[in-house]
Amino acid sequence: MSFQKIIQFLEKIALLANLSEKEIQLLKNPDRVLKAELTVNGKKYSAYRVQFNNARGPYKGGIRFHPEVSEDEVKSLAFWMTIKTTVTDLPFGGGKGGVKVDPKRLSKKELEGLSRAYVRAFYQYLGPDTDIPAPDVYTNAEIMAWMLDEYEKATKTKAPAFITGKPLELGGSKVRDIATALGGVYVLEEAVKKTGLKEKNVAIQGFGNAGMNMAKLLAERGYTIVAVSDSKGGIHDAKGLNMNEVIKAKETKGTVTEYTKAAKISNEELLACSCSILIPSALSGVLTKENAQKVKAKMVLELANGPTTPEADEILWSRKVLVLPDILANAGGVTVSYFEWLQNKKNESWSEQQVKKKLQEKMVSAFEQIWKEFSDGKKSFRTAAYVLALKKIVDAEKKRKRI
Ligand code: NAD
Repeated sequence: MSFQKIIQFLEKIALLANLSEKEIQLLKNPDRVLKAELTVNGKKYSAYRVQFNNARGPYKGGIRFHPEVSEDEVKSLAFWMTIKTTVTDLPFGGGKGGVKVDPKRLSKKELEGLSRAYVRAFYQYLGPDTDIPAPDVYTNAEIMAWMLDEYEKATKTKAPAFITGKPLELGGSKVRDIATALGGVYVLEEAVKKTGLKEKNVAIQGFGNAGMNMAKLLAERGYTIVAVSDSKGGIHDAKGLNMNEVIKAKETKGTVTEYTKAAKISNEELLACSCSILIPSALSGVLTKENAQKVKAKMVLELANGPTTPEADEILWSRKVLVLPDILANAGGVTVSYFEWLQNKKNESWSEQQVKKKLQEKMVSAFEQIWKEFSDGKKSFRTAAYVLALKKIVDAEKKRKRI
């Protein structure tokens, strides 16, 4: 979503949250927009770090390497991170970074050079108590390890809490690999309890880190996965797909469509298929004003970032479809990032069970708070989440006398 659209959305929510003009102005503007030109092998790449707001704690947000990265996009993503860390009550603010590059065209050595150059460009503004990066689109644990090394060299410190999403050997956290999906499961289970939803037939669009882990975790919990898809298309079986076999098809042949015991469907058909729970886990903007009327699910859990357009959101709300928004539904990743940071700070290493228990507590508590705000029946669950988050940020700003 463009930053202009975010501002419009913010103004709408600010009215419902009863914010003053001064408070809205403060929330509209990022604290700092950092830019640099990185040179690798004689080629130049535009790089950004946006520090949106740190009223509630150090800036926190991933770094993405993608050809479409722009200052506008990084600003929008940094705003969202500010909201997301607030929704789950983490002691963080929001930030985001990006480099405009097609990483698939770089050699491994160039990729490492670019990752290190990014840190050299911005390290004075980053740090365990200042701004903590993490992986995002096309960045991973290996890149986090290079970045950590470069940061420690530049600052002559040992500082594992500078970055999250690291390999376990360098202070990464257990459960980080499935954290987004598992956080989504905890949110879904609360919503199912609260609404008394009986049918547990699930359709999942996207079968990568988020979607595949979600399918696996839900199947293990007795949900029936009736449809899944990836960029090549989807498969559907009203009686339920055999998840072990679908995962095998994806891992060995590269696509879920190689699973032969189900009917083929398109990604568009998946969104409208007969199910009670729909989980978009791939791209943004897939639920639109054109297809929102056709959605048969009673609940939509947004594991992807921004899968529902504002127009579709209105339609789903008017049709009483409960949309569990991305800022809560996929916040399991940043929550376990927080646990990683905390373990590094305390020099501890938590067991898988400890991390899962703490994740569940955080997600359930966030859900409960939003549910309370939502219960007046006057606003959607998404709006309730934003209203709560904006109020919390403003309260923190008031305490530090910025407004
Ligand atoms: P991924 O790259 O691991 O997987 C993406 C999946 O989407 C793949 O299966 C791909 O085939 C599929 N896909 C691509 N184009 C498609 C199309 N046109 N139709 C249907 N499927 C398509 O990515 P991921 O990490 O699983 O992230 C997916 C979404 O979840 C993104 O919106 C991301 O921002 C969001 N998210 C992920 C995390 C995380 O920790 N992985 C955290 C927060 C949000």
